[in-house]
Amino acid sequence: MNSLHDMTVSELALALKTKQLSAVEVAIGFLARLGGNPHNAFLDIDSEVTLAQAQASDARLAAGTAGPLEGVPVGHKDVFVTRDFATTAGSNILAGYRSPFDATLVQKLGASAPGGAGMVTVGKLNCDEFAMGSANENSAFGKVTNPWDTARVPGGSSGGSAAAVAARLVPAATGTDTGGSIRQPASFCGITGIKPTYGRASRYGMIAYASSLDQGGPMARTAEDCALLLSAMCGPDLDRDSTSLDVPTEDFTASLNHSLEGLRIGVPKEFFGEGLHADVRAAVDAALREYEKLGAKLVPISLPRTELSIPVYYIIAPAEASSNLSRFDGVKFGHRAKDYTDLVDMYKKTRAEGFGNEVKRRIMTGAYVLSHGYYDAYYLQAQKIRRMIADDFQKAFKECDLIAGPVAPSVAWKFGDNAGDPVADYLADIFTLPASLAGLPAMSVPAGFGAQGMPVGLQLIGNYFKEAQLLNAAHRLQQATDFHLQKPAGV
Ligand code: GLN
Repeated sequence: MNSLHDMTVSELALALKTKQLSAVEVAIGFLARLGGNPHNAFLDIDSEVTLAQAQASDARLAAGTAGPLEGVPVGHKDVFVTRDFATTAGSNILAGYRSPFDATLVQKLGASAPGGAGMVTVGKLNCDEFAMGSANENSAFGKVTNPWDTARVPGGSSGGSAAAVAARLVPAATGTDTGGSIRQPASFCGITGIKPTYGRASRYGMIAYASSLDQGGPMARTAEDCALLLSAMCGPDLDRDSTSLDVPTEDFTASLNHSLEGLRIGVPKEFFGEGLHADVRAAVDAALREYEKLGAKLVPISLPRTELSIPVYYIIAPAEASSNLSRFDGVKFGHRAKDYTDLVDMYKKTRAEGFGNEVKRRIMTGAYVLSHGYYDAYYLQAQKIRRMIADDFQKAFKECDLIAGPVAPSVAWKFGDNAGDPVADYLADIFTLPASLAGLPAMSVPAGFGAQGMPVGLQLIGNYFKEAQLLNAAHRLQQATDFHLQKPAGV
């Protein structure tokens, strides 16, 4: 058997089911790795809670009432509310906040509601404040470092999740993806992550950033592990999430070994333009060649509005954020300013003290584009182009079954490289934003290494509800390559 921390979710689940390991042993093994909080990946750890959950898992394993992932450890991005751990969304305004309930995805993966998969929560993972960022530098509780090179960013906003999985602190984690926050950190840290079709996994209890884009999903080392978690995460939650889709749950592991013979992979020319770094291009090209060897056919396609996805996203997401974040007013949740003269003064001081600069920037941008006189010029135009971007994908899917390209123009950058220039970070989101705006499922698969040995991810984008096809394609690539098995020095 691999040493504990090297085991995948599927290996751990089997070892637990066959009683080679107990959930308590597994929990103790992983908790032992968290001392000193490597990479600042975690925001809350509580070994008592974790051990109690593990004991309950062992009891279910003994009683024959275990869930499919019973006893396997998981970490949750700190935008998922949890009853037993603090939830901050990486913000001072929620420092120490405790939710009275678990988010639907936490319930579905865990055991706090009937029918859960039985995973044991190891803790809450650091992230950019309210999931706004591409480098995890916007967390109020400090940056997360990339396990492959601690001078570099882990990506964002699910940077804690990606770093924790890459450093083998947890076998799997949850992330959220509004404009790339599962795929880009997965790419930067050399792991696998998938964002399902918008509406397939419940947003209930996922602290809202931009509601029409936010989507939770799994991050793990292999496509198979992502398939295991995603199968547990998806499913209708109609009473609690108004955009939840009434689509049945699916076993995404069932089709993992399907042949790729004849699969048409669309390669959008706009994803291979000037801004793409040579090392990323080389790794992505090599992965595409590998797909040809596996029987797939590459089809040149065009997504002509790729560049527009940046201004469109950075209008729509802040607009929704400015509205969603109005709930943090010092009355209902978290922080409240100490000294104030009246109610309005309390709101102002609470928000001025509680929010970080990037969040304030987006609230202001959002309020501006929604304001009278600018709404038509910005917000409405952006909505129209968003529709066209979605239509472009449907045109492309007439010629191909899935789309492949880079996740990001470069490997993980060094801390400070983009400092003080938020737009530089925004521009790096160019390849992940289109699928987000269209609500399509998309994932990142390890595809090689670039400059200074940093990981490069291949992005796969599918049509609506084609998660199984994406995971199958990713799994086949992982059977033919070993990039997902490499690990950072010292791990
Ligand atoms: N980098 C993008 C942003 O800052 C995406 C973040 C996300 O997907 N949560 O908005």
